[in-house]
Amino acid sequence: QQTNEELAERSTLLEERNVEIQRKSEDLELSTRYKSEFLANMSHELRTPLNSILLLSRLLSENNEENMSGEQIEFAKVIQSSGTGLLGLIDEILDLSKIEAGKMDLEFIEISVKDITDGLKNLFSEITKEKGIAFKIVDDNAPLVIKTDKMRLEQILKNLISNAIKFTSEGSVTLEVKKSGGEEKMVSFAVRDTGIGIPLDKQPLVFEAFQQADGSTKRKYGGTGLGLSISRELAKLLRGEITLKSKENEGSEFTVTIPVIGSELAVAEPAPWAK
Ligand code: ADP
Repeated sequence: QQTNEELAERSTLLEERNVEIQRKSEDLELSTRYKSEFLANMSHELRTPLNSILLLSRLLSENNEENMSGEQIEFAKVIQSSGTGLLGLIDEILDLSKIEAGKMDLEFIEISVKDITDGLKNLFSEITKEKGIAFKIVDDNAPLVIKTDKMRLEQILKNLISNAIKFTSEGSVTLEVKKSGGEEKMVSFAVRDTGIGIPLDKQPLVFEAFQQADGSTKRKYGGTGLGLSISRELAKLLRGEITLKSKENEGSEFTVTIPVIGSELAVAEPAPWAK
């Protein structure tokens, strides 16, 4: 039997612990906010000089080729490709920090799915041809208008398709569009490849920021490991999800499923400190 005194002591202890937890969670929120703000500012400050580097190195090589040695032309190309890679990384970090801060602006408009698939076909047909793999788009040919954020949907699909191409050396990459019924009409975009596949135990990992299935230091494929985590967060903002089916050495299928009619209301509540 506990005495009243012991009970009172326990309750004071519990209260103190609660206050401590509350304080820690406020500290955590604050440091997450500082981190997101820092990243957003940093990314902005880095972009400006980098854009000048890219522009000037392009002008240098474009207008000057007759005055430059082969080596100099080669160097200018390296500056451009490294700079473009860095710009991509900065944009990805900026996207992640915006998503984390609940500050990713979305614009839901009516768009034709065919416009999107045509755009992707144009964008990727050259590189797939160069790599000797087929790029197929499969749909039922019925016109389909959906309401979503076009730029962000395209960003997800471009990321999935460029991954599929990167990790496939022969065979094909297919983008299949399907409507699924149910209460809420959904549309799914499956990106299928016949590439290296992802081992089962690595599958949950690939959606984490900076994680790659091949974590070895001598990685064969470049990349930042940010694309899929951004894509998964973007799919959530569009009120959808991304699922993965894959078999090692056989291929992978990433499917993004979103509502046919999405809306801004669905956007996740920003964290309290981001309001
Ligand atoms: P990145 O491609 O820049 O490394 P992502 O976040 O897009 O970053 O992908 C994370 C990891 O998931 C990749 O490094 C790769 O290991 C794995 N992955 C993604 N897509 C595929 C795919 N289509 N086939 C095989 N592995 C893939």
